Amino acid sequence: MLKGKAAVFTGSTSGIGLGIARALGAQGSNIMLNGFGEPKAIEALKDELRAQYDVEIDYSGADKSRPGEVSELVEQCVARFGSVDIVVNNAGIQHTAPVEEFAMEKWEQIIAINLSSAFYSMKAALPHMRRSGWGRIVNIASAHGLVASATKSAYVAAKHGLVGLTKVVALETARSLITCNAICPGWVLTPLVQKQIDDAAARGKISNEEAKTRLLGEKQPSLEFATPEQIGAAAVFLCSPAADQIRGTSLSVDGGWTAQ
Ligand code: NAD
Repeated sequence: MLKGKAAVFTGSTSGIGLGIARALGAQGSNIMLNGFGEPKAIEALKDELRAQYDVEIDYSGADKSRPGEVSELVEQCVARFGSVDIVVNNAGIQHTAPVEEFAMEKWEQIIAINLSSAFYSMKAALPHMRRSGWGRIVNIASAHGLVASATKSAYVAAKHGLVGLTKVVALETARSLITCNAICPGWVLTPLVQKQIDDAAARGKISNEEAKTRLLGEKQPSLEFATPEQIGAAAVFLCSPAADQIRGTSLSVDGGWTAQ
């Protein structure tokens, strides 16, 4: 379905971003990976994806906290594949503390990586999409883009901001074949969440399994983690012709979290 398209996935060396890159690669899309990791592991990942999906793979180590590098990532995709057809804004980080104890540099960093970088990548990609007449933007927000939790001020603010930004770009592209939507995952067991589980286990002097059960029980009625594969399938749907008229929406994949 996406044969020959060129897609940028920010933060795709692990977790959800990698899951989405795999899902779109399986549909024939060329893949511009981005994110941090050991050079050897990244080379191995590129080889694996190339062999598995028979598509072109490139990688950029662009730091999403730096606006100039975000734009360069998009331009690298155009230089390498001839276009940028799909942008998946996924890279994100977390930090938890009550507002009065929240380190200012953590606030700045989370807003830069989880929110501002999506603005910069869309700003860079939209002129290319308008020229080619087709585009898909998928912003990975969160259940925290729709509802809040204590101790997550920067993350919740950034994700709510990303949901709002998604709507604006959807309106600005409404009369074109470019769409912009958000996916709002609940808990997905990735390195980002594993760290929160490890912290909770250490804090509560409980086992990792117990910490996982409590984490799910607190928020996610299904008591099951969503998977990167499921988020990937949702992204494929948003890139399909069936989703041509889905614009500015937030697709929850959250086990019922935000139905409560
Ligand atoms: P992860 O930690 O597994 O992956 C994050 C990716 O972002 C990695 O590839 C990392 O290298 C990259 N990254 C981090 N900082 C970066 C930077 N400055 N520049 C470029 N790349 C950077 O996390 P994940 O759980 O897969 O999260 C991916 C996205 O999904 C995030 O935006 C997160 O907020 C969102 N999300 C995750 C969950 C969850 O339960 N895991 C739930 C809702 C939303």
